[in-house]
Amino acid sequence: MPAPEPTARIVRGAVLADPALRRAEPADILIVDGVIAAIGPPGLGAPEDAVPFDAAHTLVHPGLINAHMHSHGGLARGQGDKWTLELLLAAAPWIGGGRALADKKLSATICAAEMVLKGCTAAYDLFAEFPRPTRDGMDAVAEAYAEVGLRAVIAPMVADLSFYQAIPGLLDALPDDLRKAVDSLRPGDGAACLAAIEDIARHWSWDRAGIRLGVAPTIPHHCTEGFVCGCAGIARANGLRLHTHVSESKVQAVAGQRLYGRTLLQQMNHWGMVGPDFTVAHGVWLDDADMGLMAETGASLAHNPGSNMRLGNGMFPLRRALDLGVTVGIGTDGANCSDNQNMYEAMRYASMVSKVQSPRTEDWAAVEEVYRAATLGSAHALGFTNAGEIRAGAKADLVFLDLHAINWIPHNWTVNQIVHAEDATSVRHVMIGGRLVVRDRALTTVNLPRLAREAKAARERLEQANAQMKALVEQLSVVVGSFCPGLAAAPYHVRRYLRE
Ligand SMILES: [Zn+2]
Repeated sequence: MPAPEPTARIVRGAVLADPALRRAEPADILIVDGVIAAIGPPGLGAPEDAVPFDAAHTLVHPGLINAHMHSHGGLARGQGDKWTLELLLAAAPWIGGGRALADKKLSATICAAEMVLKGCTAAYDLFAEFPRPTRDGMDAVAEAYAEVGLRAVIAPMVADLSFYQAIPGLLDALPDDLRKAVDSLRPGDGAACLAAIEDIARHWSWDRAGIRLGVAPTIPHHCTEGFVCGCAGIARANGLRLHTHVSESKVQAVAGQRLYGRTLLQQMNHWGMVGPDFTVAHGVWLDDADMGLMAETGASLAHNPGSNMRLGNGMFPLRRALDLGVTVGIGTDGANCSDNQNMYEAMRYASMVSKVQSPRTEDWAAVEEVYRAATLGSAHALGFTNAGEIRAGAKADLVFLDLHAINWIPHNWTVNQIVHAEDATSVRHVMIGGRLVVRDRALTTVNLPRLAREAKAARERLEQANAQMKALVEQLSVVVGSFCPGLAAAPYHVRRYLRE
């Protein structure tokens, strides 16, 4: 572990990102006990014992906040190419199966290390264990975040139906032998899963490390009504946040309409889930009424443009969501589906995806809106009130970009270049709660060569352990890959009140 950090620190010589200004201006930042105590012009007064931090030639922006990712994806990156969401879900028992406790921690460490090296200081992690979440597994993931030094909300991602039970007609489309084989892929008993979450909530001890617990019934129709309402009940009783993938793919939107006769979000609302503590992931197929409901109830949306493109799910209407008053955060989604955990790339994609949908610039999101989404918007999704901005009283979660890096030569328009030109290669230092987690481009908390060795050993072992499952998934994928696009071809109208 690194040497203890000073309790007071004065950052001098940097310029400070401010979306209200075209170009960042010089400012000093006084940090006391991990919190920003004061911001002022160069020469800002500081207590005598404040340790100076030379930030010359750097641009400071608030730590980016990842509103949606999956730490189990860390060990499973780069496994699929032409995978839809449904093919990814079918592959999950292979690419995420057979994990020992140490693998769960290792996978989270890989993700946390990547995020902080790329300017991210907090994440909403939907972490899955099969057949149900465990206290040890959740503690292992929390320990990974604590050791790397990131803040997080970790939500056990749960269901009581298998993917094959959840998609209407899919079980019937399987030949007899495969239908029997997928029986083993059913999640454990719903009541046992709810009891496990309650047990985790009762023993959760990570809040002081900035690591909170959430609950994530994964996808509405992968859960029975009793189960999803049980999850919501546990969340309410323990003051935890809820997070669910809603209308991510067209297959889901169509399935929801067939199963419930209403949109998936309306169904979630019927179950009493939609409110200020609720985060919708993706929402590509939400309609205006869904987004109006989210705005009205204060629910947040985690926009994952990289994953939405990579899995062929479509384009989230960011402009429409913002106009309808939805609080939008930005996420990378898991490394098992969208490869990296780079919030700069996620911001750039969010901007580009909003722009590619229309030739009318009034339909586009502006860089300031995208930047706000990846900071304050995501903070809202995580339920963090003192993060995502640089102001007195906020946590000292700060990213220092090297203005001598090529992305900043020249430095014309700060926020535009953070969203469109930065790719994380300029990240020089990262402070979380005033603690230097990245210093001079190197992690102070993780030994990367050792992490690489551990990951290689785990990959080799898991490859062997999951070989049979891989063979089964390959057979199942033939059916999933033809059945689901057929379902997605069904007519589905996304209702918009305003002009198209
Ligand atoms: Zn996800």
